[in-house]
Amino acid sequence: MSEKQKKCMLCGMPSDDSICDSCKSNVRGEAAQKKQKIEKQVKSKSEAEIDKIVKKQMDD
Ligand SMILES: [Zn+2]
Repeated sequence: MSEKQKKCMLCGMPSDDSICDSCKSNVRGEAAQKKQKIEKQVKSKSEAEIDKIVKKQMDD
């Protein structure tokens, strides 16, 4: 009975993953939007650098 029920870390709904499917698609959509915004701001930067910036912002 000590088995923990897995929950989504974002919305708290029961989920097999740490993030449920609906939150996953939300996060993915948000990340894509942020990335597009950042890409416009930093056209001179490389893909890897943009990825770093996106990840940094996602941590906030
Ligand atoms: Zn969720």
